[in-house]
Amino acid sequence: MKIVRTGQEVRSLGRPAGGRVALVPTMGALHEGHAALLRAARGGADILVMSLFVNPLQFGPDEDLDAYPRAEERDLATAETAGVDVVFAPSNVEMYPPGATTTLSVGRLGEIVEGAARPGHFVGVATVVAKLFNLVQPDTALFGQKDAQQVAVLRRMVRDLRVGVAITVCPTVRADDGLAISSRNAYLSSEERRLAPGLFGALSAGADVIERGGEAPAAEAVVAAALESAPGLVPDYARAVDPDTFETPDAGGDVLLVAAARLGRTRLIDNIPVPARTAS
Ligand code: AMP
Repeated sequence: MKIVRTGQEVRSLGRPAGGRVALVPTMGALHEGHAALLRAARGGADILVMSLFVNPLQFGPDEDLDAYPRAEERDLATAETAGVDVVFAPSNVEMYPPGATTTLSVGRLGEIVEGAARPGHFVGVATVVAKLFNLVQPDTALFGQKDAQQVAVLRRMVRDLRVGVAITVCPTVRADDGLAISSRNAYLSSEERRLAPGLFGALSAGADVIERGGEAPAAEAVVAAALESAPGLVPDYARAVDPDTFETPDAGGDVLLVAAARLGRTRLIDNIPVPARTAS
């Protein structure tokens, strides 16, 4: 496994003629969710590149950039075990040369739901992923359903900018009690960890409503009420949205139940997609 830290090095990586390059972007502190992405990517790739970069542009001024867990040595060992060929671990200066001011504007999709709670977050995500795509030139890139609005923003970005990268989405990996695995779960105390699955529980209650023939607004109300009464969780939002636009879903169409809540100093997000076939 090669470790490269500059754009120049990653640009000059040799690739076999006709070989397929897959990219898995991460912010490190690797866990089972990242490992599932790497496994899925390994299958279809001749060269598997994992990026490891805590992107400052996607953190707000009052967010956890400084506290974000960093564990490069352990991450490199995990990547090696997962069969990664190249780890791209750039510095901040490498990704944001001094004086860099150019960003991608992602429009309304980046400003609603999670984007309303985290102003500028999706501009940061789209900008860094565009840079990674430019540097690595992958054929395909894999992202987790866990960050559903990120997926919607990036699908829109590659479509709008005519970027030739296929986006694959892998299902959310959960602990046995339903909690979506996340690097930020490391912030939870043991008591908070016990309460954290309440977020998935609230979303599941909403998914049941749709699966039993109910409509999206009824499901949204059930998620909101369940989240409100979940011990320890302070709701941020609970919405039933269209998975591509994050606007109100069409009646009988695909629905994505999304929610965010605070638990102590940790902010948790999660979602459950409910496809139209069960929503009708
Ligand atoms: P991050 O390091 O948090 O930026 O995440 C890197 C990638 O892993 C993103 O595409 C995430 O959506 C994905 N990811 C994070 N947690 C999970 C999970 N529990 N299941 C599946 N994918 C995940």
